[in-house]
Amino acid sequence: MPETTTCNLCPTPDTLGPHSEKTRIRSNVRRFSKERFPVWRCRSCGSIHSQKEVDLNHYYKDYPFHNQKLVVFLKMAYGTNLRRLTRSGLQRHHTILDYGCGSGLMVQYFKERGYRNATGFDAFSDKFNDPSTLEKTYDCLFAQDLVEHVHEPLEQLREFDRLTKPGGIIAIGTPNASGIDLQDAEEYVHNLHQPFHTHIFSKSALIRAGEDLGWSTDQFYIMQYNNTPFPFVNVRYGQHYGKCYDNMVDLAFENLKPSFRLISPKALFWALFGYFFCPEGDMLAIFRKPIR
Ligand SMILES: [Zn+2]
Repeated sequence: MPETTTCNLCPTPDTLGPHSEKTRIRSNVRRFSKERFPVWRCRSCGSIHSQKEVDLNHYYKDYPFHNQKLVVFLKMAYGTNLRRLTRSGLQRHHTILDYGCGSGLMVQYFKERGYRNATGFDAFSDKFNDPSTLEKTYDCLFAQDLVEHVHEPLEQLREFDRLTKPGGIIAIGTPNASGIDLQDAEEYVHNLHQPFHTHIFSKSALIRAGEDLGWSTDQFYIMQYNNTPFPFVNVRYGQHYGKCYDNMVDLAFENLKPSFRLISPKALFWALFGYFFCPEGDMLAIFRKPIR
């Protein structure tokens, strides 16, 4: 099986060696939780790479995210990203492409909020894999949790550039390698999400990659979009909830499970105030493509 031993996210790539910061981490998907995967960090740019190139078709079978529904908690989280986009100038008449839209829940949310020209593309979705979608250009290219899944993220960014109108915005939400401590990898097991996250940009590598395409950085957010001020809907409470059970990502798509540990003083503290203690393992960069 081939391996990733050279960074493909920066212009001065480091190669995996004895000097490298590295660890092995379990998968956070229950079906594969017994498997451990080596990850390492590029010393040059700080990005993190999954070392083993696995047969992802095998792992994506019955992928828990495919069971996601547009529940009220998810709408609160999507609201965070929508507010960020409007802050960067998104208007209701703009054309939006949600690239890597999965089952299209964010597209549905955009439309519910009056953004009628929102559409989605996802090569793995029967509903959203129409190639003609990629023959147009858009005012807003939105890609949440996509670039960390592909084998060549810089090529993906060039594709985003091609799909965006001059003066349009490109919003990339992805884990932040700069906020992940590989010495305490279990704490970041959901950001690392092995073996699905093949390459994880550091903050500086993502900004550099965007600016190398001529984009300017309009806004940069370190706070994860599903960290909201609403009680219980924040990252810290989600982490606490996971640790009350088996800490698998599958829990997010299953019915809520009652437990006395969920009404402990610690749980209630995170439920009410977790918003203010969001870890830095995720980021959203909003870039603007130049007018000419
Ligand atoms: Zn690098």
